[in-house]
Amino acid sequence: MSSPLVLRTVAELRRTVAGWRAAGERVALVPTMGALHPGHVSLAGIGRRTCTRIVVSIFVNPTQFAPNEDFSAYPRTFEADLAALEAERIDAVFAPGVPDMYPDGFCTTVSLAGPAAAGLEDRFRPTHFAGVATVVSKLLIRCLPDVAVFGEKDWQQLAVIRRAARDLDIPVDILGGPTIRESDGLAMSSRNVYLTPEERAAAPLLHRVMTRCAERIRAGEPASTAMAEGRAAIEAGGFALDYLETRDPDSLAPVADDASGPLRMLVAARIGRTRLIDNIAVRPVAQH
Ligand code: AMP
Repeated sequence: MSSPLVLRTVAELRRTVAGWRAAGERVALVPTMGALHPGHVSLAGIGRRTCTRIVVSIFVNPTQFAPNEDFSAYPRTFEADLAALEAERIDAVFAPGVPDMYPDGFCTTVSLAGPAAAGLEDRFRPTHFAGVATVVSKLLIRCLPDVAVFGEKDWQQLAVIRRAARDLDIPVDILGGPTIRESDGLAMSSRNVYLTPEERAAAPLLHRVMTRCAERIRAGEPASTAMAEGRAAIEAGGFALDYLETRDPDSLAPVADDASGPLRMLVAARIGRTRLIDNIAVRPVAQH
């Protein structure tokens, strides 16, 4: 086992990637905010399928947090992250500082519509996706990987990034990795450390409710009926619900009850001071 290279500046990153490219290697980038868990690590495994070099970026991006959100409290566990990545044979960690990413005078952002304005996360975090798309565009342009891997856990984010990479002609394959869960169904998240023991015990309800609603929709019940009962069950379980919706998986547009075809269920809910998001496939492929 050897430690990953730790790269702090765009110049170091470009020099390292250029060396690999000159040797004919393929490079995958896995962008993260650190506080790594097995969900993050699984994305590196997806990059490994087609690439010989893996870069994991660790950057807690201030521009995707609203002033009332948890930027300063967000867990930062760099040494433990490095140890976890060493065990996974990651080649490099790109961990720039805020002034390197956003030098004085920085004033350019990516502006979004489409899946970024679907009325899901954007309704509750109106500045979030501009921050995400800007930082991800910068990371992709800095690294110019062959492949970049993102988690399905953040389904709307994945749709936004796919669209932005296509629209901005960034030459990279965007891959999605399945959501890694705890054994009781809770989606792994760096923010789960905020949960008190009682909240942690309640948290798997979100996945349970979604699973039950999806089964009922597949059995022929109208999505609107199943969703209404799902919303009530989540609120009865002690959550403040932001949304529970079924949408088209790509555009994230609403889908009529009688439509067939792919369907994704997405949820966001708060318990105590923690906001959890999750999603599952209702109908993963078009049905004829
Ligand atoms: P974050 O550090 O939370 O910004 O996440 C970095 C990447 O890991 C994003 O692409 C997330 O969607 C992905 N991710 C986070 N949690 C999971 C999970 N439980 N399973 C799979 N991917 C995840």
